[in-house]
Amino acid sequence: MNRVTAGRRVSQVFLLWLALASLHLMAPVQAQVASPMYPPLQSGEFRVTLLGTGAPPPLMRRFGPGVLVQAGGQNVLIDSGRGVTQRLFQLGVKLGAIDAVFIAHLHSDHIVGIPDLWLTGWLEAAYAQRNGPFRIWGPAGTRAMMGHLEKAYDWDIRQRIADQGLKAENVAVQASEVTDGAVVYERNGLKVSAIEVDHGDLLRPAFGYRVDYDGRSVVISGDTKPSENLIRRSVGTDLLIHQVAAVRPELLKDPVYQVILDHHTKPEEAGTVFTRIRPKLAVFYHFVLLGTAKIPPVTEKDVLEMTRRSYAGPLLLGEDLMAFRIGRDAVEQLQPAAK
Ligand SMILES: [Zn+2]
Ligand SMILES: [Zn+2]
Repeated sequence: MNRVTAGRRVSQVFLLWLALASLHLMAPVQAQVASPMYPPLQSGEFRVTLLGTGAPPPLMRRFGPGVLVQAGGQNVLIDSGRGVTQRLFQLGVKLGAIDAVFIAHLHSDHIVGIPDLWLTGWLEAAYAQRNGPFRIWGPAGTRAMMGHLEKAYDWDIRQRIADQGLKAENVAVQASEVTDGAVVYERNGLKVSAIEVDHGDLLRPAFGYRVDYDGRSVVISGDTKPSENLIRRSVGTDLLIHQVAAVRPELLKDPVYQVILDHHTKPEEAGTVFTRIRPKLAVFYHFVLLGTAKIPPVTEKDVLEMTRRSYAGPLLLGEDLMAFRIGRDAVEQLQPAAK
């Protein structure tokens, strides 16, 4: 094959690719839905799945914060950090099947996944298909943020309505703001209430959430220093999902690390919090383990050992896609369905 023929071949292949790509844009997308990762929910089941257990670092193993709570036919999401859509896809849960989203606070690691969930969840593809508005609750500022996002994505929204015939009512946003102690959502026996936590004086308001269903409950801390309000509202909960932060003492000379640490709960403090709450199971998520090229981060094993100095009860280091069933007597970790 001489150079001219090879060049022509390349341009023919390119044209074919272009034609297929434009067809793909014009035709309704027929992407598959992943087969469910876990067994289907049983009647009366109360299930909690960690979608993301990370913080700002863009790690493949720990996506941004997101916890899926499923019970009473409802799918609610606490936080929408980086990668919640990918994790929902891995679970086999349609993006459009999320009934309500609750945001802990407006730090970017908790909200960067919102536009993806909102807009990708609006598409016609089998993995999306939201039917109705995108409903979101969060601290003061959530309404304004969502209004700004609607402006930022205005081109996409207008074009998809005009070009693809997507329905405006399914991209509409219903944003509400929460206050401490309020029951912010109640449907089919599933009840979500907001718990104001303490993420630092300049970072108010910040919330954790408690979800109750049929006499059982889960509490998700959000980002907080040890919080008396969180402890008071969580005593005796079945499942406690709590953040943790740690840095080696050498790093604390740098005020940046001290500031970050001051906004969170350290392992020994978390142990004290767990000892007072006495959950059936405590699980760490939102790992803030900072290091530098010279000073490595505290390891997860260290976190566990430090926590054990003040807590002897059931405790797990959370991983993305870990799932738990909250039963009447115990919290059980689910095993993925056999493929
Ligand atoms: Zn955070
Ligand atoms: Zn934060």
